[in-house]
Amino acid sequence: MSTTPRSSLEIARASYRHISLYAPDRRPCAVDLSDNTNVWGMPPAAERAIREAATSSVTRYPELYSSRLKSALGDYLSVSPDQLVTGCGSDDVLDSAVRAFAEPGDRVAIPDPSFAMLPILAHMNGLEPVLVPLTASYDVDADAMLATDARIIYLCSPNNPTGTAFTRGAVERIIEHARGVVIVDEAYAEFANSSLLDLFRDNPRVLVSRTLSKAFGLAGMRVGYGVGSAELVAEVEKSRGPYKVNALAEAAAVAALTDGMDWVRQHVQLAVENRERLAAALSRMGLPPLPSESNFVLVPVANAVPLALRMRDRGVAIRPFDDLAPVSPALRATGGNAIRISVGPWDAIETTLSALRESLG
Ligand SMILES: *Cc1c(COP(=O)(O)O)cnc(C)c1O
Repeated sequence: MSTTPRSSLEIARASYRHISLYAPDRRPCAVDLSDNTNVWGMPPAAERAIREAATSSVTRYPELYSSRLKSALGDYLSVSPDQLVTGCGSDDVLDSAVRAFAEPGDRVAIPDPSFAMLPILAHMNGLEPVLVPLTASYDVDADAMLATDARIIYLCSPNNPTGTAFTRGAVERIIEHARGVVIVDEAYAEFANSSLLDLFRDNPRVLVSRTLSKAFGLAGMRVGYGVGSAELVAEVEKSRGPYKVNALAEAAAVAALTDGMDWVRQHVQLAVENRERLAAALSRMGLPPLPSESNFVLVPVANAVPLALRMRDRGVAIRPFDDLAPVSPALRATGGNAIRISVGPWDAIETTLSALRESLG
């Protein structure tokens, strides 16, 4: 990841000086397993809906608060439309939520390692991110999270980039004692053995965020959503503002959630099977990944950045990390270095494994 020059522009907001533009290496590559999007594509029903909407919906404003999408999501999740908030990607939902439930200067507790966007979103809203190391078994450290006394607690399960799921007991303990909102990011819920979604029902301070960027194959359309009590999601909706899900995105998302569901379920199943096959192959190479409940695996390996560059020269993109919090013996052994490999069709994984073998030298 490269960084952009920090601004010293005097007219800029002072707290924005330590924000860099998000800049993962996105140069095109023959095989790209770097960003956990759906390598199989999108449901054909979504593609048809985009074509149809392109000729009928684009000259008018979209719906103010995505009521068609909320209705389709409500059916998918068995929740009521007024327990849903949508956004331009779940990044938009997370951004709006941290703005809605904290005042500038408040703290946001974030597990470490976890989703790299959260500290950025905190700074964007004048909040102070407080990073709390995961336990050695990659669970969230409930006591340490609570000890921050943060106004907002962010949890991500299955967690990116570790791929591991947090234990329900630890999450429940945090929810029970938190002083403010607890955000549970379930971007990878479809690939997991269990979900924490139901926790919102008894806990009016819980917001679960999800996305159509991963299992549903619609990352480019930018559709995400949050689930919580009606009162809670209404605050997020105020903070986010109207018209954020555009007409093509809403059409694609509704089609994916209805006529596209068989396709989505089949490809989730394939991703889970290929993930286990990939994990076994990596273990045979002497590179066991962390146990994953998502559509990617994290592989602790030394010198991850030069390794990724050599793989790129062989036409394969994966995501390297060189400064992960060394919370476990495996991550300590590599000095916080690891590569994250997304799961896709098996031929893409085979190409990736060959490139990895050759690049390890
Ligand atoms: C990919 C991802 C998201 C999704 O972001 P969108 O804005 O919905 O594309 C959210 N959280 C985590 C942890 C992710 O990895």
